[in-house]
Amino acid sequence: MNRHIIRKIILFLILIGLLFACAPNILYKNSGISESIGTTGNGSLKNAYQIKYKTNNSRYFSFISFYLVGTGFVHSKLHQTLIDSYKECETNCPGIKFRTMECSLKKGGKTLIHRTHRNGLSVDFMVPKIKNGKQVKAFDRIGLWHYLLNFDSTGKLKMNKKVSIDFETMGKHIIALDNAARKNGLAISKVILKIDLKDDFYSTKSGKEVKRRGIYFARNLTKTIDMVHDDHYHVDFKIVN
Ligand SMILES: [Zn+2]
Repeated sequence: MNRHIIRKIILFLILIGLLFACAPNILYKNSGISESIGTTGNGSLKNAYQIKYKTNNSRYFSFISFYLVGTGFVHSKLHQTLIDSYKECETNCPGIKFRTMECSLKKGGKTLIHRTHRNGLSVDFMVPKIKNGKQVKAFDRIGLWHYLLNFDSTGKLKMNKKVSIDFETMGKHIIALDNAARKNGLAISKVILKIDLKDDFYSTKSGKEVKRRGIYFARNLTKTIDMVHDDHYHVDFKIVN
């Protein structure tokens, strides 16, 4: 056999292997009610729901994370909360496209890059970005690499200072999440955003409303945890009823 054919066979086997590895997450069907066990930091998830990869105004951020690693699972109540919140954003943030980042694994437990996210009640959301008053989506398309983007203390993207975090839209999204959570028997228990960015967030109209609602933002974070929460905000939920 010549090298060309061998290369083709290897490529074919890799593709088959990938398809085989992704199949359970491609074919997954949601049904029934989920059960979150333990805490976000030490827990598991039963009968998980896979979030929608795409809605009218949102997308999951990484094919690899969703289908291969399988980090797109949440509690059934949170699944509905995400759908309802993005629906509200269609009216409150017209034209804005959101990106959901990592959630939990199908059975919960430890994930590769998160300390929490273990019981289906944690979700990461990509910060929406703005340039000259308009949403900029170029940096939203880099998949898992997005976790490595760095922003300065005022929310400007370090590698392109014309791009900054759209704190107003972020606040509107958190308000929509709060509304949807209440409707679905959940409550936001904690938001993690880099401490340095909180003053910029709270200075917006929607940020003030988030504060007025008493939605808790983490006040003390270890250096590492603080450092990584500039490109996304992490939201923990709790089951109320
Ligand atoms: Zn997180």
